Amino acid sequence: MNAPDATYFRKGFGLKQDVEATLSADYTGRVVDLLRARDYQLTVGDLTVRLAREFGFCYGVERAVEYAYQTRHKFPDRRVFLVGEIIHNPHVNQRLQEMGIEIMLPGPEGFDYSTVKADDVVILPAFGVTIGDFQTLREKGCVVVDTTCGSVLNVWKRVEAYARDGFTALIHGKYYHEETRATASQVEKFPGGTYLVVRNMDEARDVTEYVAGRGDRAAFLARYGKAASAHFDPDVHLARIGVANQTTMLARESLAIGEFVGTAMSVARGDAYRAANFRTFDTICSATQDRQDAVNALLQEAPDVMLVIGGYNSSNTISLAALCAERVRTYHVEDALCIDPEGGTIRARDPVSGEKVESADWLGNGPMSVGLTAGASTPNNKIGDAVARVFATRGIDLSALS
Ligand code: SF4
Repeated sequence: MNAPDATYFRKGFGLKQDVEATLSADYTGRVVDLLRARDYQLTVGDLTVRLAREFGFCYGVERAVEYAYQTRHKFPDRRVFLVGEIIHNPHVNQRLQEMGIEIMLPGPEGFDYSTVKADDVVILPAFGVTIGDFQTLREKGCVVVDTTCGSVLNVWKRVEAYARDGFTALIHGKYYHEETRATASQVEKFPGGTYLVVRNMDEARDVTEYVAGRGDRAAFLARYGKAASAHFDPDVHLARIGVANQTTMLARESLAIGEFVGTAMSVARGDAYRAANFRTFDTICSATQDRQDAVNALLQEAPDVMLVIGGYNSSNTISLAALCAERVRTYHVEDALCIDPEGGTIRARDPVSGEKVESADWLGNGPMSVGLTAGASTPNNKIGDAVARVFATRGIDLSALS
């Protein structure tokens, strides 16, 4: 029997009990507990806040953050690095830095691991890292604590199978996002493995146009050069397509893209061709799906405005905000501090244009209901801070409430 690998850890260190109290102190929140206890709705005066029933930290994020805390506890005297952000939340990343964990930032050529030594410890984030980065770190001989989420690993398996069977992995995602970069790199496990990333239906349409024989090769390569394997050739690599997605995209759009590309293949080459040369698989994670479903349920009885809390670079938060903005006035704030109770203003990312906009008098004066949700990387205490500032904008202090 092989001895266990003493430098690679995927399941933490069995120190959950040792870090539980610190985690709880850092991320749980009284106001969110209060909302839960009151059936996800809090009314004071003529202001009501309604919280979606699934929100905030997902299982993958909880696990990754806990493993990072366990790592610090296990190796108090070693240098501990984190490859990029553990999740897309500035408070969580800052807290890890305060604990002495050094966050490595990528340059134009990717991450520089030259300073990492064999006696260092390196944490891989919930998004995972590319195959190349993984191999580089393993060759260093340092301790690697891998917190890649199981739902991301499921997508990797799918993409691997596509590459193994000679299909181009068509990934619905953002080509520059850590998770999608790591996912796309899985095709490299097989010679000739190929990927192409499309961000939305508009980009999927370019693929279907090409499949239908109406594409322009040079224009296609110019547009998707950065979003595809270096050797990608649309004349060759759109013949066999397998669809997957970044786990945090809008589920509805991912499914529509899969269907759209499959139908285009049927129309262009017939159903038998499609059956042999097209595959699709919904790889949206269940946590993302649950949060999107919960927002849809909340919007059944639409509030006057929606407040969506989460990092501006958090893909699942952006998807939630886009979903809300289809139905009601929506403010995507990265932090409670975006809400200024004294000035009555809110600074938010416009869910459609992506621009940061400051709005005055966003809560008005009369009866008002505010719907609330938060992305998978937003801790409860930060959600609670935002709720408190919403009420404070109306001069209501929640601190006495129990
Ligand atoms: S959003 Fe989904 S894939 Fe990402 S960490 Fe959470 S559970 Fe995992």
